[in-house]
Amino acid sequence: SVIFRTEGLTKVYDTGALKVHALAGVDIQLYAGELAVLLGPSGSGKSTLLNILGGLDHATSGRVWFRDTELTQLGDRGLTRYRRDHVGFVFQFYNLVASLTARENVQLVTDVARNPMRPEEALEQVGLTHRMDHFPAEMSGGEQQRVAIARAIAKRPEVLLCDEPTGALDSQTGVQVLEALKSINDTLGTTTAVITHNAAIRGMAHRVIWFRDGRIDRVECNDTRIAPS
Ligand code: ADP
Ligand code: ADP
Repeated sequence: SVIFRTEGLTKVYDTGALKVHALAGVDIQLYAGELAVLLGPSGSGKSTLLNILGGLDHATSGRVWFRDTELTQLGDRGLTRYRRDHVGFVFQFYNLVASLTARENVQLVTDVARNPMRPEEALEQVGLTHRMDHFPAEMSGGEQQRVAIARAIAKRPEVLLCDEPTGALDSQTGVQVLEALKSINDTLGTTTAVITHNAAIRGMAHRVIWFRDGRIDRVECNDTRIAPS
């Protein structure tokens, strides 16, 4: 089934001196349960699309649906509720609380979520059972990012949006982070969209969506069972 659908989506940044057309008319569907990777040159609109799908930013024109809910009709309070109930985010920087252990960082989310996993369960999902009582400074970059991923999935979101989760990591370590995302997608069925320059994602994703100049250039489909092209 379709989980996201956009129609004629545009985003214009008006910086005074010039207008930047970050999205210049994007029509795309994401399918429930798919792992999609967004590729394309820097500045081609990938983050902008992810931010709009995640309810972090408003479109300039066009429409976006999350299932039957039109996100482009929601106000700030509606978008906040949507993010809280349905979306997990992972960014390049981990934003862990330095004074808390891995378990406690995840607990910040599980303490307030409606139907959370146990923190131990979320950390096990990313292969960090042996690191639960470690502090961020005692962990490698890849481990810290996996704590951030555990934190993002602990509320059992339907959607996981990852903007350059491997951006601060060497490519070997990046692969481990992508494998954690793949494993989440496989075992929990979380619909996942990832922006990454790490080539290893190509073999893991159901679809590769290429961006150029604020538009979708082409879509490569590796698994027609989950995502018809
Ligand atoms: P990436 O290529 O990884 O998306 P960028 O450096 O293009 O990284 O952008 C990172 C963030 O900085 C964006 O999500 C946006 O919020 C902000 N940003 C990018 N370009 C501009 C700009 N020209 N003016 C103001 N903010 C910008
Ligand atoms: P990508 O993720 O593919 O690198 P982005 O979506 O970050 O691309 O950016 C698309 C375009 O929008 C770029 O030209 C970028 O500089 C511009 N942009 C992004 N965020 C902002 C912002 N907050 N203000 C102004 N321009 C921005």
